[in-house]
Amino acid sequence: MHLEQQLSNRIGVFSDIHGNLHALDAVLSAYDALGVKDLICCGDIVGYGAFPNECVERVRERNIFCVAGNHDFAALGLVDITYFNLIAKRALLWTREALLPKNLEFLKNQPLALDSDDALFVHASPRMPEQWNYIITMGDARINFRHFSQRMCFLGHSHTPFIVQLVPEEETLSCIDRQLVQLDPQNRYLFNVGSVGQPRDGNPDACFSVLDRDKGTLEVLHTRYDIEAAQVAIRHAGLPTELAERLAMGM
Ligand code: ZN
Repeated sequence: MHLEQQLSNRIGVFSDIHGNLHALDAVLSAYDALGVKDLICCGDIVGYGAFPNECVERVRERNIFCVAGNHDFAALGLVDITYFNLIAKRALLWTREALLPKNLEFLKNQPLALDSDDALFVHASPRMPEQWNYIITMGDARINFRHFSQRMCFLGHSHTPFIVQLVPEEETLSCIDRQLVQLDPQNRYLFNVGSVGQPRDGNPDACFSVLDRDKGTLEVLHTRYDIEAAQVAIRHAGLPTELAERLAMGM
């Protein structure tokens, strides 16, 4: 699906909500405070957290553009979960039971990729979005730059934000370790926007990003949310307690 007509010059991009309504609401409030109205989610609305229905409904109510994540498709039975670890598998089976038909239907209708003139949005990788491969090394990044034509690609999946820059003339890659990046119009970028609902970069705050096309910047931001309430809900739901514990550590 092509988005160009529908987006303003400031876009909020985030990923991996994973049923964490407290984190999602904190991020949506942060976008409201910044005046960012056009939002795109790079997948995994559900899985792990105690509020899969509420998170899907929030995304629908706010008209947030979405791509499908592996946990979203797994909830639909479209992804083989034998390779999921035991905790992820238990959470997934719980989520599958909990999701209302209308919300399953919504997840089923999400595409594997969205694109605008200058950006591609996927969950895992532009090379084969349906394979859910991780981009971990610079070698992975280099291969993936060959699989999208736009200047930028946004993704999630690993729950760890990163920015990789490609200088096309020299074919050199570099990682940019800054929260606010001034984008060079000549260069191309891979952005992992981290995770709203289950960060794994050692920072337990909810992670999200803002692309400002007027200023030519990409900013990765964090916001506090009520981690304890999310943990209580996970335990009450009978989901694995490890899923509550990890939220406090951001790991
Ligand atoms: Zn995820």
